[in-house]
Amino acid sequence: MASLQQEQTAARAGNGSVATATPTIDVTNPATGEVIAQVPDLGREQVAEMARLGRAAQPGWEALGFEGRGRVLLRMQRWVMDNADRVIRTIVSETGKTYEDAQLAEVNYAANAFGFWPRNAEEYLAEERVKTANVMLKGKKLVLRYRPVGLVGVIGPWNYPLTNGFGDCVPALAAGNSVLLKPSSVTPLTSLLLAEGLRECGLPEHVLQVATGSGGGTGGAVIDEVDMVMFTGSTETGKKVMAQAAERVTPVSLELGGKDPLIVLSDADLERAANAAAYYGLFNTGQTCISVERVYVEAPVYDEFVAKLTDKVRGLRNQPSTGPGTSEVGSLTSPPQVDIVEQHVRDAVDKGARVLVGGHRPERPGLWYEPTVLADVDHSMLCMTEETFGPTLPVMKVADTEEAVRLANDSPYGLSASVFSKDVARGEAVARRIEAGAVCVNDAVTNYLALELPMGGWKASGLGSRHGAGGIRKYTKQQSLLVSRFHTKRELYMFPYTPRMTRLIGRFQKLLYGRGKRD
Ligand code: NAD
Repeated sequence: MASLQQEQTAARAGNGSVATATPTIDVTNPATGEVIAQVPDLGREQVAEMARLGRAAQPGWEALGFEGRGRVLLRMQRWVMDNADRVIRTIVSETGKTYEDAQLAEVNYAANAFGFWPRNAEEYLAEERVKTANVMLKGKKLVLRYRPVGLVGVIGPWNYPLTNGFGDCVPALAAGNSVLLKPSSVTPLTSLLLAEGLRECGLPEHVLQVATGSGGGTGGAVIDEVDMVMFTGSTETGKKVMAQAAERVTPVSLELGGKDPLIVLSDADLERAANAAAYYGLFNTGQTCISVERVYVEAPVYDEFVAKLTDKVRGLRNQPSTGPGTSEVGSLTSPPQVDIVEQHVRDAVDKGARVLVGGHRPERPGLWYEPTVLADVDHSMLCMTEETFGPTLPVMKVADTEEAVRLANDSPYGLSASVFSKDVARGEAVARRIEAGAVCVNDAVTNYLALELPMGGWKASGLGSRHGAGGIRKYTKQQSLLVSRFHTKRELYMFPYTPRMTRLIGRFQKLLYGRGKRD
């Protein structure tokens, strides 16, 4: 059950206003099935009150400037490192992932982000003096500036409670906003712990508040209160979020699902390609939006690749992670996920696929499914067309590069992809033909670590992006300024209109735009 610290943290998430009557949600360790904490399931009125407090705190936070805000965020980078083991164990306890998955893809990301955004925010949001070629505006001062939107709502998923929930708060805070964070009801403890850390680092009260609770209830209330919604989750929920936000014309940024392909060309380094497929398909138990979800291999190297991949997956330990180096593949995190994985494997087998390793739920409490390699799959099967989000690697034989590209693009999703070839120019040429927001050559997933490089999905995988200049500008409102410094009492085109002036303007326009050779 909840520790005293967790209960206190949970109570503070609701600004101390959590009445005893507030319903609660159980938090379960999915690796064991044990209930480990309870958090408040906040209702509309509580969320509205949090929004009011967040708005009241925002101007003071903005007034600290980039330097003052940066000091708090950089202190937090140190806090994350000083408390890394505690943060990792909290993540592991509510997600069932391995110690290493929490260390590498969560703590590492957060520590990087708490340094990157304060160091780059000022440059990304610097005022720009703009020059215009329009002669009518010569002499006027044109400026583009960025103002924080005010109150940002961040709604996060359960697969990366730190990276994909809390991580999105960092640029929002660096830009000078207050944030209302709604973590997944499955994994709220990491956000509560990190919020505690930010308070210790000097973040003013109510600048970041964690609204624990259900999706439609608490999440819906957040959407109705904020000035901008940063949502990470499934495409299905993303559509609902977008529709609800449209009611108040609230801007949204959506990071949604994916079905990321990995293409192995016949000249690939098969050892590297098999290691990458195994790791990037199965780390975090395959529950990564940009994990390898399907593999296409050119016919001449199909058998050799499949043999290597099967060998590597067979050696993986699929058991609870009790500390560093004790398991490679952890449990699944959300209960419906086990059924989806099982359904995709059964559907593939029914349609003729071979299970080369795995293919079962282990007999133990918690949410488990064995790391699984499926061969002889095709696009009639769910495992090749719908997001599985589990520890499965379906591998399909393709005749040539053309077929690989065609099938990779045969998806409603377009989040990321990867291509393996020893000929990097050829690999890059193929990468450029893939319909996805990010494509790696002889690599996968690691583009996500470059916070300078935008990351966002095409097609049903999302709207907008995180990272890079756009990853912080989305938390701002653009304002264009035009300042007229040298001017006459009246511009020539102003009232009253006269035939002479209208003819003169016409001639002037022809002079400007009607001359010169076109082709
Ligand atoms: P989900 O859509 O079920 O839930 C995401 C969040 O939305 C949760 O906090 C949930 O409580 C909340 N929510 C649910 N219904 C809501 C509603 N009607 N209004 C407001 N909020 C609501 O997603 P999930 O199952 O937690 O996460 C897995 C999905 O997230 C996968 O599809 C994965 O690909 C995707 N994902 C995408 C990225 C990315 O960067 N593109 C990153 C991580 C996860």
